Amino acid sequence: TTKLNIEKIRADFPILNETIYGKPLVYLDNGATTQKPKQVIDAVSQYYNEYNSNVHRGVHFLSQKATDAEEAARRKVQHFINAKHEYEVIFTRGTTESINLVAYSFCKQYVKPGDEIIVSAMEHHSNIVPWQIACEDRGATLRVIPIDENGELMLDEFDKLLNDKTRIVAVTWVSNTLGTVNPIRQIIEMAHAKGAKVLVDAAQAIQHTHVDVRALDADFLVFSGHKIYAPTGIGVLYGKEALLNEMPPYQGGGSMIKQVTFAKTTWADLPFKFEAGTPHVSGIIGLGKALDYMNEIGLDTIFDAEHELLEYAEAKLSTISGLRFIGNPKERAGTLSFLINDIHPFDLGEILDKQGIAVRTGHHCCQPIMEHYQIPGTVRASFSFYNTKEEVDALVKGIERGAAMLG
Ligand code: PMP
Repeated sequence: TTKLNIEKIRADFPILNETIYGKPLVYLDNGATTQKPKQVIDAVSQYYNEYNSNVHRGVHFLSQKATDAEEAARRKVQHFINAKHEYEVIFTRGTTESINLVAYSFCKQYVKPGDEIIVSAMEHHSNIVPWQIACEDRGATLRVIPIDENGELMLDEFDKLLNDKTRIVAVTWVSNTLGTVNPIRQIIEMAHAKGAKVLVDAAQAIQHTHVDVRALDADFLVFSGHKIYAPTGIGVLYGKEALLNEMPPYQGGGSMIKQVTFAKTTWADLPFKFEAGTPHVSGIIGLGKALDYMNEIGLDTIFDAEHELLEYAEAKLSTISGLRFIGNPKERAGTLSFLINDIHPFDLGEILDKQGIAVRTGHHCCQPIMEHYQIPGTVRASFSFYNTKEEVDALVKGIERGAAMLG
């Protein structure tokens, strides 16, 4: 693989030139959202400047052009995740909406009283709460795969939880808090062996690793555009055709119908059955462009650079006295969470902010992880391929300075 041309890459992201309190921005909050390259920003503004129009309805030129752009983006997503059919790619508002859609529509079709749904102890709240709501609605029970001290899933416990009442397992591929990369293929195999379906939360995987839904045999896989260099408000639900066809719609409205009468309404075919209302056309176009952008650089080039940077950061941060990582998984992607002595993460985060260093502090929408480790929160540095070793060094210096001030 070719080596990343970091100067050229950074020039693509206008925001990286900003200064914060007079200091150069060091943006290490990529797990929350990634910055956007000008190619994506330009594609979005080109849509509004040149062919803004509603899709799938007008016969006129602009509507056709917008529709073509939207459907081209759907095929880009299809190829990016290696889905069999483009209509297995449903556009949503993001990971959260994708999970809510499956929790509602899958459970309405397939989950009966007494059935069970499995999530893990490292899930983002968005992969917990929709299943709690669905369980309450369907009279089902939620089971939780525990994690160990290293922040890895306990697969022997998972095996014990699986049984013939398990309908679906919803689990994250990469933890947004610990950075743990879960053995997702093995998890899917174990679930399938017991007849359960699997939803993969790929919100923190899609930007850091090759995703092949067919190789994984994932039943559902979800992610957000904004974490992969695309705009906010656009996300993806991949689902196997047969399952999506059996599931009832999530929302009713325009575009999702075949025919409406007051006696009976019939549903549109996939993907439109699950896309009620006017879609986020500019977001979809932006997402397609973001995937093009990554493909042009080369996914291996990107992932290798990220891996190298993460290893560098881990080694450098380890030298800080009093620093302990929260979670020490064998395989990690994107993220490092840590605490320094008994300094409160918010206090350290504030001092870093004053130096222009953006990290996230708190529970990262994973309160059960904080309970597991009996901590109030963590400081989280999350990396993208546009970050540099110099930025890691700035982080280390910033932490040392903060620790001295707060110590
Ligand atoms: N799951 C994981 C693992 C995440 O990291 C996030 C975002 N922090 C979400 C789900 C929710 O994504 P969104 O807010 O974009 O819907």
